[in-house]
Amino acid sequence: MTYDYHEPETVAEALDLMARHGEDAHLVAGATAFTLLWRQGLLRPGHVIGLRRIVGLGGITATDKELVIGATATHREIERSADVARHCPALTRTFASVATVRIRNQATLGGNLAHADPAQDPPPMLMALGAEVVAASAAGERTIALDDLFVDVFTTSLRSDEVLTAIRVPALAPGTHATYLKFLPQTADDYATVSVAATMRFTDDGEVADVRVALGACGPTPVRARSVEDALAGAVPDAARIADAAARVDADIAPFDDVRGSAGYKRDMARVWTERALLSLVEGRA
Ligand SMILES: Cc1cc2nc3c(=O)[nH]c(=O)nc-3n(C[C@H](O)[C@H](O)[C@H](O)COP(=O)(O)OP(=O)(O)OC[C@H]3O[C@@H](n4cnc5c(N)ncnc54)[C@H](O)[C@@H]3O)c2cc1C
Repeated sequence: MTYDYHEPETVAEALDLMARHGEDAHLVAGATAFTLLWRQGLLRPGHVIGLRRIVGLGGITATDKELVIGATATHREIERSADVARHCPALTRTFASVATVRIRNQATLGGNLAHADPAQDPPPMLMALGAEVVAASAAGERTIALDDLFVDVFTTSLRSDEVLTAIRVPALAPGTHATYLKFLPQTADDYATVSVAATMRFTDDGEVADVRVALGACGPTPVRARSVEDALAGAVPDAARIADAAARVDADIAPFDDVRGSAGYKRDMARVWTERALLSLVEGRA
């Protein structure tokens, strides 16, 4: 089986090719996910549209207000970016925890988000950071909050006529602490069994002024742990309060059995790793 490979140099050219070939076209960036699906016969497009030559889709820029990561920036570029490290060291660590250097050199952030495997690392961290994606189509551009991007396993709210062009991460409010913990009981380059991203900011009196918690590998999509967030809002987060809040994660997740563990095991690990993530933020503020 073969396909015609196209290399547009602008987003407009890519959109034009997508319109021309319709359901028979498939976008690729780093092709790490695409190649596996193609080899298994799960994808058989007649036309593959490579995005890596589109200069405007790459790069990373930072302003006082936000970090903007181009859709074709690779995981390795993001991991090594001084702008990303200044913006949020936990984001750097998140990208450094993806697979191996070889995969990170090839895989792009746009491809990661569009692929929508619920065990991937960047989505929960970007959700906790309040990120949004920019999607372009012939009708113009729209932004989609990460909370609204993931619909099901391997399914996003991107339309088939849209190209994801950039990821925007707003500047963190001063004093915000952030962490990403990936539970890897098998090998260091595996997908997470459970992962937890969290951000927290405190008032001068030590109360929680703002908290966001998101988990990966705990259901068909990465998920915000709103029950945990609600239990901590305005509280003085001592160890007992954190343990109680972490236990509430059970209401937010819907894990399933897979090669990395049973649903019940993942429920236990979600509670344990949520508690650890929250404790690390409280202890880290000193
Ligand atoms: C061996 C291996 C180990 C891995 N381990 C991890 C891990 O530990 N943690 C983790 O987070 N991930 C892991 N991954 C997944 C990896 O992160 C994704 O495969 C990768 O990010 C996809 O990016 P890509 O650029 O290669 O996408 P591609 O394979 O090119 O595309 C993936 C999908 O996204 C679509 N797409 C790509 N770019 C765009 C765009 N700009 N707009 C719209 N749609 C687009 C494509 O049409 C395709 O359906 C692993 C992958 C492999 C192969």
